[in-house]
Amino acid sequence: MGKGPSVRPEPVEGPASPDGLRRAQPERVEIIHIHAEAPAKPALGAPCNGCGVCCLAEPCPLGRVISRKRFGACDALRWDGALAVYRCGVLTDTRTVLGPRWRWAAPLVQRLAHRWIAAGVGCDATLQVERGNGGAG
Ligand code: SF4
Ligand code: SF4
Repeated sequence: MGKGPSVRPEPVEGPASPDGLRRAQPERVEIIHIHAEAPAKPALGAPCNGCGVCCLAEPCPLGRVISRKRFGACDALRWDGALAVYRCGVLTDTRTVLGPRWRWAAPLVQRLAHRWIAAGVGCDATLQVERGNGGAG
């Protein structure tokens, strides 16, 4: 794994204050650990290239159920060394991700995953990424 880049969610408007104005919420910066060979995150709306940034920053709704957490890397995320991309393990490694107890549900979960993850659609992650120093220190 490479040195972690920092991820900044796009600023979002906060709730209206008593004076009726909306102000941007404080910026949140998160350090993620990403494979050194992972491709750089493309622009919003560009084809997904498997950079993994979104799933390393926080799980999608399905990933929250699988990982039992709302922040941090999704447990279902898999690194594909041959292609040097991240893949969603729900789609590529379904039975392992579900474990023996839920293995029977693999076909159903795969169908849902295709819908929830919006596979094949452009990148929908509004995160800003700043690469680290490449492993020094
Ligand atoms: S949706 Fe975007 S951030 Fe997520 S893996 Fe694809 S390209 Fe990367
Ligand atoms: S797309 Fe797959 S790997 Fe990414 S957060 Fe969702 S369940 Fe996890």
